[in-house]
Amino acid sequence: MEDKLRKMKANPGDKLVEQNCSTCEFNFGDVCTGHGTRMDNSEDTYGMPIEEADKMFPAGCNDYGISLDYFIEQEKLNGR
Ligand code: SF4
Repeated sequence: MEDKLRKMKANPGDKLVEQNCSTCEFNFGDVCTGHGTRMDNSEDTYGMPIEEADKMFPAGCNDYGISLDYFIEQEKLNGR
């Protein structure tokens, strides 16, 4: 849980936005710019089409980090 909170930049007990490619800081629209580990060939996720990444990691990969936009949304959810 501590790792999850770190990825979400959240405090214990906070409401969290969903963890997936849509809310990830490494989602550059069409491609992933993160460095997760692909499940099919153990290679880097960097450059992977987001559509493909989204299917492979419904809950985000091991390199997920919350994006600024979704962090702001999450802060609002928690009254900050
Ligand atoms: S594959 Fe991982 S790093 Fe890339 S956008 Fe999805 S959660 Fe983020």
